[in-house]
Amino acid sequence: MLRNVEKFGTSDKRGRKMTHSDPFAPETGLPGVHICKSCHAVYQMKTWKSDPELYEKSLDGDHTMTVCSACQKRQEHAPEGFLTISGDYLDQHRKDILNTLQNSADEARQANPLERIIKTERADGEIMIETTTVKLAEKLGRILSRSHQGEMEISWTGEPPTCRVSWHRD
Ligand SMILES: [Zn+2]
Repeated sequence: MLRNVEKFGTSDKRGRKMTHSDPFAPETGLPGVHICKSCHAVYQMKTWKSDPELYEKSLDGDHTMTVCSACQKRQEHAPEGFLTISGDYLDQHRKDILNTLQNSADEARQANPLERIIKTERADGEIMIETTTVKLAEKLGRILSRSHQGEMEISWTGEPPTCRVSWHRD
């Protein structure tokens, strides 16, 4: 694996909000119960949870409606992670690879509702995936490398950082 810190320029930022000003950041977290009106994730005790039962229950109690940062990133189209998959191997294993990625993304979202895939674009010989967090792009790249070998490159750029992962297998 190659780590490179080369800058891609500032155009990646797209005017998105700074992550550290997130009112729901784990370090500073707001008190009370907050519900995302878009994805129905529930925030309490500094943690977001995705659970339909908890959502129903929380609606009955004191709560504030909001939009979670993952939904904001999706609405503003401001992904922090990018994963590009390419190579001849992809054409023969496209379905399998997409399943692996989707299952891993579902698991990640279950563990942390703010980690999710925003967009999947399928082009000739390439798949491009955008994620809400740098961590998820990196995680998906590593899972792919573990299950399908190939070559992976990761680069971080900007502040707050975006992560670009590219995976290739011929
Ligand atoms: Zn949401």
